[in-house]
Amino acid sequence: MSGELAPDELASMCRDCDAPCCRYYTVLLDEPQDAEDFDELRWFLAHEGCYIYVTGGEWRLCVTARCRFLGTDLRCTAYASRPAICRRFGLEGECEKTGAYEFELVFRTVAEIEAYANSVLPPEELARLPPSPACGAGGTAAR
Ligand code: SF4
Ligand code: SF4
Repeated sequence: MSGELAPDELASMCRDCDAPCCRYYTVLLDEPQDAEDFDELRWFLAHEGCYIYVTGGEWRLCVTARCRFLGTDLRCTAYASRPAICRRFGLEGECEKTGAYEFELVFRTVAEIEAYANSVLPPEELARLPPSPACGAGGTAAR
């Protein structure tokens, strides 16, 4: 399902939902250009509960973390003063309940971002990428 929703239409859907949208946040990233950028993305992905995706050309880090204001009844305990991003979310008809997000790319592990780095970085830049944490001490990124 997609297309804009009226606020009361969305509110009615939210009443019957267990609020998956209140259990993570995302941060806009710059598209990685060089070895340092990919090393940083690798560091993000070394953490549990994180993944990186690309949608509409935007790179984003997604961090799984339940909002402190999500009540045990799965309702927002700060509804009247919730952040603007929460007020806007879902109104364009795309949320976990109304429709699946389409990812152009998704990276869930260090190995996945390294494989992508291997496919886009020129050899001289790839050579600057520090050894892979996925290979242990002294390892190198898979070529
Ligand atoms: S996932 Fe969608 S329907 Fe469910 S609470 Fe969030 S905005 Fe509402
Ligand atoms: S502030 Fe409320 S609406 Fe926003 S993420 Fe937290 S629980 Fe959800």
